[in-house]
Amino acid sequence: MSNYVGRLAPSPTGAQHVGNARTFLVAWLHARSSGGRLLLRVEDLDTPRTKEWAGDQAIEDLRWLGLDWDDVATLQSRRETRYREILDELKSRGLVYPCSCTRSEVEASASAPHESQIDGTVYARTCAPRLSNDADALDAMGIRYAWRFRMPEVTPAWSDELQGDQWLDAHNLLGDFVVARSYGPTAYQLAVVVDDHDQSITHVVRGDDLIYSTYRQHAIYQALGWALPKMLHVPLVVGPDGKRLAKRHGDSRLSLMRQRRLGPELLLGELAYSLGLLKSIRSVTSNELLSIVGSSDSWLREIPRKPWIYNPQ
Ligand code: GLU
Repeated sequence: MSNYVGRLAPSPTGAQHVGNARTFLVAWLHARSSGGRLLLRVEDLDTPRTKEWAGDQAIEDLRWLGLDWDDVATLQSRRETRYREILDELKSRGLVYPCSCTRSEVEASASAPHESQIDGTVYARTCAPRLSNDADALDAMGIRYAWRFRMPEVTPAWSDELQGDQWLDAHNLLGDFVVARSYGPTAYQLAVVVDDHDQSITHVVRGDDLIYSTYRQHAIYQALGWALPKMLHVPLVVGPDGKRLAKRHGDSRLSLMRQRRLGPELLLGELAYSLGLLKSIRSVTSNELLSIVGSSDSWLREIPRKPWIYNPQ
């Protein structure tokens, strides 16, 4: 019996599109072909971007694609107490500090020019001299702040199961990052680590827009003495202009395909072709793809390491 535990983790911030479908398909095929278990985790922390309808719609989209799961994880919005428990541990160990910089202050004092940023603004560490206890004074004055995690000076290397060995200087190129706010819910970077740990996730399969987040999450894992799960970052889907698939490229929402009473087979065929699983595009079901993949990991080698260009009709 395999100890593989994977997850499908849609964010209910909008409709799921062809790009999400491609990543979910890889996550499902990898878990199922490894004899693993799969959890469904709706990541509903990103208020106010979270839309009430989007979680249920994502579930219907996944079912329509023919992907299934063994268990449903608790919604992230119901796990605040647990996240705060871990945040308290980080606070007591001085691994986070309260940062009261506004968004424009963060931008204005950025330690790298915009063009050289690889994954958002690198925070200039203006508030880094603060201690956790300094939060009391901010609370007393009614000042809002975020808890920032101190990115360690030394970045450990890690290896992606698809994209190979990874290293960059995360201290200088990514910087200290937000894990929670004094107002509002815990941030994605911390919630996802606590969830993946608590839910015994062994394999994380997600889009490679999150590859830099792995450095941040790895730093949290290390601080807590937890092991980083195996990571597989799937190259993104882009429009014909090479930019990340978006509305302006046309409508690629899965819900629209369902509304049009289309089956998933042709889309699955296109996705499978793009992943190197089929030699040409044809209609196929998720289960047929599972038998094509077989039980070894060799199909992963066929997945192109560059973005897939999709043209919504
Ligand atoms: N919820 C995220 C998304 O939909 C995935 C986060 C993760 O896999 O860590 O892009």
